Amino acid sequence: MENIQMIPVEGVDLCDPENGLFKALVHMISIFCVGITLLGILAFVLTRLWYGMAMEVLFLFGYAFILFFSHKRIRFTANILTVIYTLNAASATLIIFPRQYGFHYFLLIVPSLTWNLFRKGDIEKYFYTLFALIAFYLAEFTTGFSSLHGLTPYTRLFFGSNILLLSLVSMACMNCFTRITKQDNSRLSHMACTDPLTGLENRRFFDLTGERDFEILKRENKELSVLMIDLDHFKAVNDSYGHGAGDKVLEGVGQSLKGAFRNADKVCRYGGEEFLVLLKGTGIENGLRIAEEVRNRIQNLDFIDYPGISITASIGVSHMTPEDHCLKDITLRSDKALYYAKDAGRNCVKDDHNNSIIY
Ligand code: GH3
Ligand code: MG
Ligand code: MG
Repeated sequence: MENIQMIPVEGVDLCDPENGLFKALVHMISIFCVGITLLGILAFVLTRLWYGMAMEVLFLFGYAFILFFSHKRIRFTANILTVIYTLNAASATLIIFPRQYGFHYFLLIVPSLTWNLFRKGDIEKYFYTLFALIAFYLAEFTTGFSSLHGLTPYTRLFFGSNILLLSLVSMACMNCFTRITKQDNSRLSHMACTDPLTGLENRRFFDLTGERDFEILKRENKELSVLMIDLDHFKAVNDSYGHGAGDKVLEGVGQSLKGAFRNADKVCRYGGEEFLVLLKGTGIENGLRIAEEVRNRIQNLDFIDYPGISITASIGVSHMTPEDHCLKDITLRSDKALYYAKDAGRNCVKDDHNNSIIY
């Protein structure tokens, strides 16, 4: 798989795209089982088989519980679903119905189910698989019931094993599908959060992940500064040299910004010729100093294809205060600081009190 950064989306840990697939699988199986269980309840009411109905009602509650709680505690949900499903299938075939009804074939889903629901290191899936297979073959070979379709025990062994094989093949296909979907998901989330021109993360990424950074830093009593960088008179570059040149300049500035910060900091292209930087663990004094370095860096950029172009930037800086409730509070002040920088004649750094670098 390509080395693509996983992107967290909407506060859920979708850094791990598996979660989305996990939920889909849990929901699909649970809804299917709720449907089957409701039919079972109806059948038991009609046949007045009250203990069967009581069991089905219990299982129905189990599946409903999973549907409501599938967004939490992945491994816990996987265990609950597997236990309820396996007990449901096993009780139907070992307690309620004669074997000829074939309910024990539902047990053959358990290996595929567990191999998709559990992660690599979760050992309980081996136990569930073993239990389901033992229960299946027990049901298949329990004497005292007429053999399935009049087959001999020997051919019945083949019959059951072929169905098991079929289930394993479908499991392999599901795994393959899951892996491909996972790759597609990470590629798509990468594309959705990356600016294609500069290769930097985009505003969407910043908005999705920035608030979480803010909360963590605030909780840990750490500092946080936000730099809003806007290229000066950029429209004039487009007007004089064309949009192609403008794009090259944005690309160059993006590359330069990428190399200017620590990995922990967050640099994104916020809009047309605006860039936003989140400096983690950095207070206002260092924020201003770093902004000044960046301003210098941009001013000294050479554009090989367009030697006539020189570009400058105005930068607004603000930092987290105890009164801030969200990242937006800080970025709004950075925006205000940027206006101060523009008003001061551009190509300079200002904080939200209209101050420049403190030496
Ligand atoms: P100021 O110093 O006040 O910021 O002036 P400015 O010209 O930089 O600002 P203005 O908002 O007037 O113009 C921004 C320009 O940026 C206009 C728009 O065409 C250009 N722009 C935005 N995105 C892109 C892009 O992706 N490529 C190119 N080539 N130009 C872009
Ligand atoms: Mg602008
Ligand atoms: Mg501008």
